[in-house]
Amino acid sequence: LSRLRARLAKSQSTLGKGLLSLLSKDRLDEDTWEEIEDTLLAADLGVAPTQELVERLRERVRVEGIADPAHARTVLREELVALVDPTMDRALRTDRHIDGNRPAVVLVVGVNGTGKTTTVGKLARVLVAEDRDVILAAADTFRAAAADQLTTWGDRVGVPTVRGPEGGDPASVAFDAVKTGADAEADVVLIDTAGRLQTKVGLMDELGKIKRVVEKHGPVDEVLLVLDATTGQNGMMQARVFGEVVDVTGVVLTKLDGTAKGGIVVAVQRELGVPVKLVGLGEGADDLAPFDPEEFVDGLLG
Ligand code: GDP
Repeated sequence: LSRLRARLAKSQSTLGKGLLSLLSKDRLDEDTWEEIEDTLLAADLGVAPTQELVERLRERVRVEGIADPAHARTVLREELVALVDPTMDRALRTDRHIDGNRPAVVLVVGVNGTGKTTTVGKLARVLVAEDRDVILAAADTFRAAAADQLTTWGDRVGVPTVRGPEGGDPASVAFDAVKTGADAEADVVLIDTAGRLQTKVGLMDELGKIKRVVEKHGPVDEVLLVLDATTGQNGMMQARVFGEVVDVTGVVLTKLDGTAKGGIVVAVQRELGVPVKLVGLGEGADDLAPFDPEEFVDGLLG
């Protein structure tokens, strides 16, 4: 049993079980379909995906009928997996640029408190376990505590952290880190950024500047947006704002261990048009997993 599946089974299977028992009813009347819709909406699936899924299910029930609970499960599983979209490319772009002799650069963005710094630490650990040389950049120069927290993760995982003076220029820290990474022939530079969302313009200026400065060395390979799965519509609003400000290439959905609202995976992929690549399943160093649609759905269905 994979970790993703096991963790989800604990917190989320209420959603899957609820759907299964509704779909296994002898008579699927209008009230039952409405209940199925409500269950999906309550899990933050979003209005359009909910309608699509219910339509697909109704069509299959009409054509195939639901013979027994096992059949209901097969139908639900297939339709949920299709909705989460197994065809999206979820591979992380963390391969070193051999020809240009440059490290891969990963920018990690998101609102404070979503789990950004923790995600950078966990991701560093995964990469180190794959024998990669990693450098962290504390480009949140606004809060000394943020840089301290990242440095603690760096020490724990055994990788260097580049930081600057408190109140200094975040872009200059990012630049230093990428230069240090290139000089040291590191494989990956992970840049932790500040997540102040007071104004869209401020955010755009800050992230835009970091990106431009880093791009003097070479491309930013991956922009990971960290979203807290427990924040529902608020998380969707953050996705919208960040999507307008920076070219997000993947989403990390954190705190999926503590919520029954796994439907946000679908909603956020629709909103941004990019895949959920990683999920956070706890506060510990090993609680980060690649996102796999089939495992995810199996976790939901328990
Ligand atoms: P940042 O401000 O976005 O950098 O957020 P932090 O990395 O400081 O995380 C905020 C809080 O969320 C901390 O208490 C983390 O331990 C916690 N956290 C981060 N990721 C997860 C997760 O996947 N699951 C759970 N349960 N807690 C998490």
